[in-house]
Amino acid sequence: MKTIIEPFRIKAVEPITLTTEEDRRGFLKKAHHNLFLLPSSQVLIDLLTDSGTGAMSSAQWAAIMTGDESYAGSPSFYRFEAAVKNLMPFKHVLPTHQGRAAEAMLMALYGGEGKMVPNNTHFDTTRANVEASGAIAQDFVIAAGLDPANEHPFKGNMDIDALKTFMAANHERVPLVMLTITNNAGGGQPVSLENIRAVAAVARAYAKPFYIDGCRFAENAWFIKLREPGQADRSIPDIVRDCFAETDGMTMSAKKDGLGNIGGWLALNDDAKAEQARAHLIRTEGFPTYGGLAGRDLDALAVGLEEVVDENYLAYRVRSNAYIVERLDALGVPVVKPAGGHAVFVDARAWLNHIDPMHYPGQALAVALYEAGGIRSCEIGTVMFGRQKDGTEQRAPMDLVRLAMPRRTYTQSHADYIVEVFEEITRRKASLKGLRIRKEPAMLRHFTCEFEPMTA
Ligand SMILES: *Cc1c(COP(=O)(O)O)cnc(C)c1O
Repeated sequence: MKTIIEPFRIKAVEPITLTTEEDRRGFLKKAHHNLFLLPSSQVLIDLLTDSGTGAMSSAQWAAIMTGDESYAGSPSFYRFEAAVKNLMPFKHVLPTHQGRAAEAMLMALYGGEGKMVPNNTHFDTTRANVEASGAIAQDFVIAAGLDPANEHPFKGNMDIDALKTFMAANHERVPLVMLTITNNAGGGQPVSLENIRAVAAVARAYAKPFYIDGCRFAENAWFIKLREPGQADRSIPDIVRDCFAETDGMTMSAKKDGLGNIGGWLALNDDAKAEQARAHLIRTEGFPTYGGLAGRDLDALAVGLEEVVDENYLAYRVRSNAYIVERLDALGVPVVKPAGGHAVFVDARAWLNHIDPMHYPGQALAVALYEAGGIRSCEIGTVMFGRQKDGTEQRAPMDLVRLAMPRRTYTQSHADYIVEVFEEITRRKASLKGLRIRKEPAMLRHFTCEFEPMTA
């Protein structure tokens, strides 16, 4: 059969409140045209993020009931630890409430004034934690990774030559080498096993620890199986184990490929660093056998880690994004290709080329998707990155709109509906107008700023 069906039945439903376009115009006004300011009850299809928004399985909900809330030595921790070690056999596993807490701990171990941390692309919380420690975050993704139309199979790969040149010049300032799989800030594009091994070899040549930010390790392994020569017949757990075999540790947001609504961890082999990390964990998150989580969360993650490497799940997951990308491409909507693992990216600057980048074509498209269809997406462009440290404003390198797909949450008819909303926008595109920012905070303005639509 060529139809890839959702490999699950629905056991509990969460109703969506249906609204009209007229309702949504009113909601937009109240939210100052900032989709972050909308109550989620006013959203039909919420594609703001894939983080923590997925549906848990009946087995995960059952595991919640077996959660043991003992302060120390809970069996929930041992089940969680075994599930992590089954895929990533690190010596020490420290649970945290989210990925960023693991990153803060990692930087407490390795960061500091004047240091430099290379990565394919630092995710924004990773960058913030590196910089908060006083270190400099450097990105070395391959050139194809920055070109929306380039169909390279592993657009998340690190540029190995650039990394080698950088290490030759700066290795004394480098405390560790990092790699993010998939490359979230670069569109959820995968990294090949060959590239992971090449990065490991560079780190080893300089005797530097190598850590993977593994938030989407299962989606990355699925792309390796599909696209990397010699990997097609291997199991996903085997590919995952290979990805981590040459690393010294990892950070993880379990809100992604942990299939949980909350959680994360830091895992590592170095005994002395682990000792230091445990002290940090106790001070900031909690006792090492629960970290920042309840016992029931740890049990849900233990089950989620078994489910996320299921090939039927991964085929459905990745196929549903590719389907939307293909349909949008056929409509003439400029999309980032090939489709990434967790989101669909639209090049709003190219599509709404009658709107000046300083009037936020990405925000204009995000607002139009909400107005026409109740879809909440996220601008990743001049609204998010345009404000400079000196207070001036510059266009971002790109004005993208991200439609992030929650895991196991929406169905094929939702995908078809999303495409239909784009069809409608294709019809009204020439009449879409840019926006002006009326009020903004000093930092991270995209979350709370207020917009005003332009009239001309
Ligand atoms: C989400 C994410 C993080 C941060 O994790 P949180 O759980 O949101 O704190 C770090 N790195 C990447 C690649 C992510 O996608």
